Amino acid sequence: MRQRKPLVVANWKMNGNSDLVQQMSDALSVLKQPLPEILICPPVILLTDFPKHQNYKLGAQNVSEQHSGAFTGEISADMLLAAGASHVIIGHSERRALYGELDTVISQKVKVAIDAGLTPVVCVGETLQQREEEKTLEVLARQLDAVYAAQPYLLARSVVSYEPVWAIGTGRTATPQQAQQVHHFIRQHLAQYDAQAADVLRIIYGGSVTATNCEALFAEADIDGALIGGASLKVAEFSAICTMA
Ligand code: PEP
Repeated sequence: MRQRKPLVVANWKMNGNSDLVQQMSDALSVLKQPLPEILICPPVILLTDFPKHQNYKLGAQNVSEQHSGAFTGEISADMLLAAGASHVIIGHSERRALYGELDTVISQKVKVAIDAGLTPVVCVGETLQQREEEKTLEVLARQLDAVYAAQPYLLARSVVSYEPVWAIGTGRTATPQQAQQVHHFIRQHLAQYDAQAADVLRIIYGGSVTATNCEALFAEADIDGALIGGASLKVAEFSAICTMA
């Protein structure tokens, strides 16, 4: 019996429309319990299109580190809550690489999200070059410390997603053993801040997860679910992944 309830997150990125909302909602609503916790993160404009259903929760893919004010184009944590989100993905590698989000901003976003009542799904991961230079654990420690060293209380209210950048959208998944090794490291590393919270922390894996490779990943002791990009846009495949978690 798993101690940590598995979590399966759909990251639609800048994809989807109200038809996909309806199809996904219909498919997930008929899945039979027991299910993992299922979290759908569509573009924010689609959040309010989702009918409420006990089988899934909703999240956003980003949040402002500010509370309110003159920040054109930004969306606050309170606004996400009002739109029905309970979670928010923070620090996705696309935000880090394409929008220049630094560890300091990510740390602030995690704090603002939690203080507002959202659960952050905090993404960390190394690039291919960093892995080849054997800097994976160093990079992860830096990304995690940036969020939790000065504010360890945030750990008990977080989810962490390990997403090797080289595996995102590439069809190249980390092997279950590679992922497990890193997840174990993350849990051990975070134990220095709060051992109890680290023990119950859900650490999910992201990077080319499909219905074909998910079972082997979910079988690993420290892999508590998945964050899924491409396959989360395919209703039947995503539903199948949820039933296997
Ligand atoms: C992601 O969006 O973080 C992701 C893991 O995408 P994909 O499943 O397509 O690799």
